[in-house]
Amino acid sequence: MSKNRPDAAQNDGSIYPDTLLTHGGNHPEDFHGFVNPPVVHASTVLFPNVKSMRDGSRTYHYGRRGTPTTAALEEAITALEGAAGTKLATSGLNAIALALLSCLKAGDNVLIVDTCYGPTRELADRLLPRYGITATYFDPSVGAEVEGLFQDNTRALFLESPGSLTMEMLDIAPLVAAAKARGARVLMDNTWATPLFYQPIRDGIDLSIQAATKYIVGHSDTMIGTVAASAEAWPDLEATHGWLGLHVAPDDVYLALRGLKTLSVRLERHQRNATAVAEWLQSRPEIREVRYPALAGSPGHNLWSTYFKGACGLFTFAFDKRVSEAQSEAFLDALKLFGLGYSWGGYESLAIPVRLNGIRTASPASVVEAGPMVRLHVGLEDPRDLIADLEQALAAAIPA
Ligand SMILES: *Cc1c(COP(=O)(O)O)cnc(C)c1O
Repeated sequence: MSKNRPDAAQNDGSIYPDTLLTHGGNHPEDFHGFVNPPVVHASTVLFPNVKSMRDGSRTYHYGRRGTPTTAALEEAITALEGAAGTKLATSGLNAIALALLSCLKAGDNVLIVDTCYGPTRELADRLLPRYGITATYFDPSVGAEVEGLFQDNTRALFLESPGSLTMEMLDIAPLVAAAKARGARVLMDNTWATPLFYQPIRDGIDLSIQAATKYIVGHSDTMIGTVAASAEAWPDLEATHGWLGLHVAPDDVYLALRGLKTLSVRLERHQRNATAVAEWLQSRPEIREVRYPALAGSPGHNLWSTYFKGACGLFTFAFDKRVSEAQSEAFLDALKLFGLGYSWGGYESLAIPVRLNGIRTASPASVVEAGPMVRLHVGLEDPRDLIADLEQALAAAIPA
């Protein structure tokens, strides 16, 4: 490793993740010694002569195909994920679309976990069929038996763990093994764990997807996605990205790079705060179940311990059956510090009501035998204030 320059050797796991976050993608010597890469606003790249236009001797050719700013983020994510390469997308959902398009063609089928992020299902059910691609869903509790769901034309398996809303954990190894035996690519939406707490590619997954909008950006001010690929999946990913003409604006890329530097310290605090809040909720009589896989006694805790090195600030809880939908909504309305809003992974605490009706097709929505559900994102506030907020909202909405 030359001075300030983690090189390709960084991908082999020989440098610890916190160091990769700190230095990944930075090449001060290329930019007069400035620590951070420049925000390059660009379309045209000038060539000194026709020969250099033709021989590929220049690193950059055209703004859409990459700049020193996009290269810095791609390089940092590649190192963190232990990948062969990374491509950027305009949002997390766009990254999911890019990853799916890179490994599917007309006539193919993709097997998707039933607890996938809702818009992933919309994409698979509404857009992909126009191009002759079908999607089938599988129960997240299935293990090696997923084998029986593969059809002759199943070319990809799409995972998300924990799943959106209900936080159901997957037993990843037998799923990957079944897909490999069938020669199918495995994709994983790894937004919850981030590459700090789980590295899909090291477990044989081909495409690791991040809604970087969430923790990598970390400040609720930019939307961006990343797809990191194994050596086998990389050529298709790179080509598909180019054909689609995907390009992320440099200021947004820069904000993701900046967020990356503090990802580890923020996540540590999100986990600590979420644990405090989850434990407090567990002790409340109004609450039936807290679904935070890092918490002992939470569903999926054993799978979480098997696969993940940590947890973020996002989890779901279910009220007792005696709590009505109207009381649950009154509770949400009474919250003062927890904002009501979509997305998560920023510094601030958020809450949303969770409704499972009609969004699952391969497994029972009644996994949670309880009353109404709420998803919390626990931010970086003092957890004592967050708990006080939850306590006053419970008191206001739900009579003892
Ligand atoms: C938010 C989210 C996405 C989509 O990210 P956007 O940047 O909002 O498009 C994808 N997957 C999961 C699990 C998410 O929570």
